[in-house]
Amino acid sequence: MNTYARLPVRFVGGRGSTLTDDSGRDYLDALSGIGVCNLGHAHPAVTQALCDQAGTLVHTSNLYGIPLQERLAEALTRLSGMERVFFCNSGAEANEAAIKLARLAGHARDIDEPAVVVMDGSFHGRTLATLSATGNRRVQAGFEPLVTGFVRVPFDDMAALETVAENSPQVVAVLVEPIQGEGGVRIPAPDYLARLRALCDRMGWLLMLDEVQTGMGRTGRWFAFQDSGILPDVLLLAKALGNGVPMGACLARGAAAELFQPGRHGSTFGGNPLACRAALAVIEVMEQEGLVARSAALGERLLARFRQALGELPGVVSIRGQGLMLGIELDRPCTELMGRALDQGLLINVTADTVVRLLPPLILGEDEAERLADGLCTLIRDFLAEA
Ligand SMILES: *Cc1c(COP(=O)(O)O)cnc(C)c1O
Repeated sequence: MNTYARLPVRFVGGRGSTLTDDSGRDYLDALSGIGVCNLGHAHPAVTQALCDQAGTLVHTSNLYGIPLQERLAEALTRLSGMERVFFCNSGAEANEAAIKLARLAGHARDIDEPAVVVMDGSFHGRTLATLSATGNRRVQAGFEPLVTGFVRVPFDDMAALETVAENSPQVVAVLVEPIQGEGGVRIPAPDYLARLRALCDRMGWLLMLDEVQTGMGRTGRWFAFQDSGILPDVLLLAKALGNGVPMGACLARGAAAELFQPGRHGSTFGGNPLACRAALAVIEVMEQEGLVARSAALGERLLARFRQALGELPGVVSIRGQGLMLGIELDRPCTELMGRALDQGLLINVTADTVVRLLPPLILGEDEAERLADGLCTLIRDFLAEA
């Protein structure tokens, strides 16, 4: 169906940071399928793992034990400090699981209509509950009645949260992205998560972090919250988890990890042997190749490069980033830059109308980073010079 305003290109192959279209032309991929293919395309170790597993066992059911799922849960809890994992197939489903956990936590406290605090400018998915949680009217319009049980506050605004804490006894959880992705690579104050943690502790709320986009090394840490010295109660992952094999996860800790009992939640496909094998291969490669540190270092270089080349340019509002999650905000709508970059053999994204967003693969080469920086700076300079 007509769900996407697609760019006029069709890819048929890929290798590393390069995608090849159906006429044989190569493109430098600085979006990674929206932060999914963090190891690039057709990574040999992931490909080998998938081929092996496809020839061994693809799917059984969560009615039975799944050793690869247990191994993946062990790896993810070791890396994150969380305790238990529910596996699903997408970011929206991971968020759905979190919203259901929050409601169970509320009912366990005899709150009849539990509510979750969510943020302006947030994105949590396209299912009815997650689009209702999302802070963007364009995502919601036409799909009313929305799911109730959400209280909205501005992002990065502790005062607004204090007001909610005083006036809304039905609140049981906060659902927030550590850095807003679709909302325009919005980075909150450095102490935001720590202050959220303290407020949640004081109020008995669950702190639920949507790291569907920021997780798995994207921001130069395994998970963005690890910059803050805190632990969430619930952690949501998807996008990069399987390097393109659909997979999501809802991790929990403490009381939140014990709320689901048999029959309360489930998924036919979630955590099947094929997807878990892919995710295990992803983690192994990331650890072997030091890709989390690479994301931090390369991101810092690119950020400095953009600030130097574009920082003083009238029309550039802000240049920001954390690891290889980078945003360049302009003072005008710039979605047409996606098509112009495509013509130059460069895949970038524009989100929130005015923010050029880069989510290059973590395996991006140094020369590729240079090409990306040169190409994009020229495009932005030319674009701003026109108006
Ligand atoms: C992409 C995204 C989602 C939705 O993930 P899907 O796999 O498309 O359902 C949810 N939250 C955040 C922060 C995202 O970036």
